[in-house]
Amino acid sequence: MSRSRKMSGKKTVKQVDARVSELSTQQDAVINKLDALGMEFAGFAQAAANDILKLNHLIYAMLDKEGLITKIECANCGKEVIRPDLDGVDHSEDCPHCGQNLHKSTQVTLDEVTSEEE
Ligand SMILES: [Zn+2]
Repeated sequence: MSRSRKMSGKKTVKQVDARVSELSTQQDAVINKLDALGMEFAGFAQAAANDILKLNHLIYAMLDKEGLITKIECANCGKEVIRPDLDGVDHSEDCPHCGQNLHKSTQVTLDEVTSEEE
């Protein structure tokens, strides 16, 4: 029995089990490494985001000091939008908070409702 297996090159059940166990251990090691890499990257991304935020605050503080900032209250969500008044900087009319037009309210006002009824 064992001689014919040796000749056919087929592995025994014990050998297959050992290989499966070995592969499973390797798989766990790879998953652990990926988890560690993921956490390392998340830390890096957070640090980069914090730096960008700091620079953003710094730039807007400098622009504000120079009087180069316009503050707009969104006509739709009411949140304040800060825009730099610089040549060559395109201004979107869309609110970054709600995505609606900053100046035109999309909500139907009471005046519009009453005028429609007349
Ligand atoms: Zn808005």
